[in-house]
Amino acid sequence: MVALIPFRGVAGRSGASRAALTAALIPLALALSCLGCRGAGSGNSGETSPQAAGKRALFAEAADALKPLHGAKTPGSWMRGPGRDEKGQTYGEWVESDPVRPDARRHSLYIVLLGEFDGDRKKIVDLCAEFMGIYFNLPVKFADPVPLSAIPESKRRVHPSWGMEQMLAGYILDDVLLPRVPSSAVALIAFTTSDLYPQDDWNFVFGMASLYRRVGVWSMFRYGNPSAGPAEFTACLRRTLKTGTHETGHMFGIKHCTAWECNMNGSNSLEESDNCTLALCPECVRKIWDACDCDPVQRYSKMESFCRRNGMAEEADFFRKSREKIEPVFGR
Ligand SMILES: [Zn+2]
Ligand SMILES: [Zn+2]
Repeated sequence: MVALIPFRGVAGRSGASRAALTAALIPLALALSCLGCRGAGSGNSGETSPQAAGKRALFAEAADALKPLHGAKTPGSWMRGPGRDEKGQTYGEWVESDPVRPDARRHSLYIVLLGEFDGDRKKIVDLCAEFMGIYFNLPVKFADPVPLSAIPESKRRVHPSWGMEQMLAGYILDDVLLPRVPSSAVALIAFTTSDLYPQDDWNFVFGMASLYRRVGVWSMFRYGNPSAGPAEFTACLRRTLKTGTHETGHMFGIKHCTAWECNMNGSNSLEESDNCTLALCPECVRKIWDACDCDPVQRYSKMESFCRRNGMAEEADFFRKSREKIEPVFGR
């Protein structure tokens, strides 16, 4: 049995060599990890007023000021595998793609809990909601929870070798989430503690998103047991924050980043994802500042404070340094 590889949408199939597996996975892996990230346009291509142009010029200057803090992407297994055909995306290319942006009608991120969450896992999702609100400068709301009984027996299985129950991710997107998307939602994101699979001959998938339709589901099943101790809690929190922000980034039309070490790098395993940074690179962070009309100084300040309060000192220090780099650009 092949151990799987997947993260951020890449999953392992049963019964193939690693090399054959990698070759076989490429098209599906890309389809799963980036569904719709090419131009799910909302019709709102951004403001073009002189004031908006002035703000974008400041964002460009601030992004330049951040560059000394960031390193070029070192080719990891994702860039030798599923990511080898990905070209990355400059800020200009992202603007050209007419990406989804929050607007007067769709202005909130919604999270829905699918299945049972114990105290610590619920706490982690609550913290993730708080962090995503800061990261994307958007209100984050909880939709009514959905029990796993909403998924019929025909859309579940017991993994033939491992024995755990798994839910069919595509069914969750199409039949559970899509009818529940609130009219004010930029995106509806489901977190579940159940394991997921994308189709019969795959072992599992960490998550799946349909960006054109603004829905996604991510599983915390493989993020470790947050109740095992403070270090395990922080590890599970960090993984959930990375997934929530990375996948929601795709929903704003941001493609995988191949130029810098960045939260928008793809990953081919949990280990590779653990080595990814939570921070966005100078090219990708401009997209979020622009799409979500952020105050970049305030955003870093709040991210620093969040990480400091939640045992993530390294990230807190990085966001402090980021804030200090850009403060002069904004006259602070
Ligand atoms: Zn991705
Ligand atoms: Zn990037």
